Amino acid sequence: MHSQNPIFIPGPTNMPEAMRRAVDMPTMDHRSAGFADILHPAIDGVKQVLKTTLAEVFLFPSTGSGGWETALSNTLSKGDTVLACQNGMFSQKWIDMCQRHGLEVIVVEAEWGAGIPADRFEEILTKDTNHKIKAVLATHNETATGVVSDIAAVRAAINAAAHPALFFVDGVSSIGSMDFRMDEWGVDVAVTGSQKGFMLPAGLAIVGFSPKALAAIETATLPRWYFDVRDMQAGYKINGYPYTPQVGMINGLKQATRLMLAEGLENVFARHERIATGVRKAVVAWDMALCAQSPDLYSNSVSAIMTPKGFDANALVAHASSKYDVSFGGGLGAVAGKLFRIGHLGSLTDVMALSGLATAEMSMKDLGLDIALGAGVAAAQEYYRTTA
Ligand SMILES: *Cc1c(COP(=O)(O)O)cnc(C)c1O
Repeated sequence: MHSQNPIFIPGPTNMPEAMRRAVDMPTMDHRSAGFADILHPAIDGVKQVLKTTLAEVFLFPSTGSGGWETALSNTLSKGDTVLACQNGMFSQKWIDMCQRHGLEVIVVEAEWGAGIPADRFEEILTKDTNHKIKAVLATHNETATGVVSDIAAVRAAINAAAHPALFFVDGVSSIGSMDFRMDEWGVDVAVTGSQKGFMLPAGLAIVGFSPKALAAIETATLPRWYFDVRDMQAGYKINGYPYTPQVGMINGLKQATRLMLAEGLENVFARHERIATGVRKAVVAWDMALCAQSPDLYSNSVSAIMTPKGFDANALVAHASSKYDVSFGGGLGAVAGKLFRIGHLGSLTDVMALSGLATAEMSMKDLGLDIALGAGVAAAQEYYRTTA
């Protein structure tokens, strides 16, 4: 079924008309000169979004998860130790991927709703005087819980321990929606995908490799072929790919970064913060709480909203979809049934956000929750009206 309603899952996100047109291209020979005019501007645009001049950017036909694998397989060897925090479904999956690659993972368990405890990282890294830990993994925005972690603080923890580990950051649901400073934060591999902040269909793993990460490839021995960064690097030098690229998707990325840079990155981030703040006002008016434990952890790309005890949040998601044709995110893993998620990243306006809040209210009322229609909408309206 086709609906004009916006989508409120935290990725894939709403596609602006210009993005849909950009990915819809006649077949182009990817070995022709025209491809260079698509590939290089897309890469340059991503570098600006990552705020890096030092890193090299690679675009794999894959998704964010493939970006995780690119980070691991290019820089690490079987048996290497990595340090990671588990505070939600996505950080958990990345840890699982490490384990399946034969890496030893020191897992710092945090509550779902908490951020990465940088002080625990610092303690562990300080004790690791033999530098057994080869990489530190951080999920910038835990999409399952709507928690944004302080990446600068994690970098500061690594520095305080004077530890040489590589620093990998999953920015799949933050990059392009919230501030990300690859160079300033000393991120060695930044990972994202096309279908969240970049407002495109799923299909690209987007990764940035620092010079230090590129150097690590030479001694890392994990098996890799499809995701070998060196083949991609060699291809880019002659305007090509080691295999067949999705030209339309890369053209979409070129246009997406253009759109974002034309709006101004700081304006894009401010828009996300404004829309998210309005959603949070509605949550307060509903007398509900976010899964994120404190305001410093509130994500500007997704809100995970705890529903009252005994209420099945998944039923709300299913009802909104079947009755109103509007999609919200459900609870994943440990929080399944306990919360629903409103994705508010990518191409979104105040007015679109209000429609999502109104639909959530109708669904809550339909399912018997004690909610005054319009309460959350009014709280958000008041905020949007007075801050526009
Ligand atoms: C969506 C997401 C992923 C997975 O990306 P896919 O594109 O679905 O492979 C990884 N990490 C985070 C934080 C995400 O939000």
